[in-house]
Amino acid sequence: MKKSIELRRQLHRAPELAGQEKITSNTIITFLQDCEPDSLITGIGGYGIAAEFKGKQNGPRILIRCELDALPITESLNIPYRSEVMGVSHKCGHDGHMAIVAGLAEHLQLQRPDRGSVVLMFQPSEETGEGAERVLSDPKFDKVLPDLVLALHNLPGYPLGQLIIGSGPFASSSSGLKIHLQGKTSHAAEPKAGNSPAPAVAQLIQVLSSIPQFYTSLHESAKVTVIHARVGEIAFGTSPGEGDVMVTLRSHTQEMMQLLIDRVASIAGSTADMFGLEITITPTEPFPPTVNDSQIVKLINEAAGKLEMNIHQISHPFAWSEDFGHFTSRFKGALFGLGAGEDHPALHHPDYDFPDDLIDPGISLFMETINNLQEL
Ligand SMILES: [Zn+2]
Ligand SMILES: [Zn+2]
Repeated sequence: MKKSIELRRQLHRAPELAGQEKITSNTIITFLQDCEPDSLITGIGGYGIAAEFKGKQNGPRILIRCELDALPITESLNIPYRSEVMGVSHKCGHDGHMAIVAGLAEHLQLQRPDRGSVVLMFQPSEETGEGAERVLSDPKFDKVLPDLVLALHNLPGYPLGQLIIGSGPFASSSSGLKIHLQGKTSHAAEPKAGNSPAPAVAQLIQVLSSIPQFYTSLHESAKVTVIHARVGEIAFGTSPGEGDVMVTLRSHTQEMMQLLIDRVASIAGSTADMFGLEITITPTEPFPPTVNDSQIVKLINEAAGKLEMNIHQISHPFAWSEDFGHFTSRFKGALFGLGAGEDHPALHHPDYDFPDDLIDPGISLFMETINNLQEL
């Protein structure tokens, strides 16, 4: 069996959740050491790793990023390399992405880039949206500050090995907001002696959901999804004194995201005022949009054309979010998809498994793209 497939299965057996990727990180470090990079930095933004392979002449520093973390999902498959950790498994294919990027290290060991350098970045905590930001703000990252950034994600629902790509926004921006309303409990026989947030919570569920309808145009993509709401405790003798409404906001641009955040804040604020409640709003899991640079997309397309890959240009950005958006908001770059098979189980489903057949095409496409990008 090929070394990269063996590595993928080894990683699959020992999945770790966001922020806890210790064994995964050690496995990758051992693999990379054998590939003799010019530098190997560990412990970036948690368990993050960066391996740099340098060319002889000056040129751009190209960073290729993959993810270390698995998900809190119990594997339903009975495969020889089944997850050995109860309740945790690689259901987003990050094991496969790591195998592709580790496979690149093997190629770069034999064939350094002609110009510039290639940094292979293994990023922690993608699923919680925290990892990219932590890596970028770690002073160790300054040693490998890139000129260009690339990443891929496998995509079930598309033909196996197809390249899915587009210029401009590729994955959406999303952000969670927790709205906490503070009133006062009282005996359920005497609600007037307290201040229940129940009417305000009920009103917010309706009004916040209608923000896209009343504040955005037909062509602007925006969503406000109420994902959780609650008042007080289950106690039939008590009128509640506090409550929460949580929403997830989604859009294709940072400007629209700001508009949604401002609207939620002003509507929630005036609702709290109306009912005489204290309010706190806490943002959580913010993902900026992932925006693809058109020049880089053109060079990836050319690389895929040379490899005679099937190419699908997207007409709309995807509704999901990727924390790679933190990279593309700071550096020129692109995220692209590789089809995992039209009937392949969806990402985050318990019966999903990364197709090993994508490892070689992924490595080839990155190698070919690295060649093209050296001309920039
Ligand atoms: Zn995922
Ligand atoms: Zn993922």
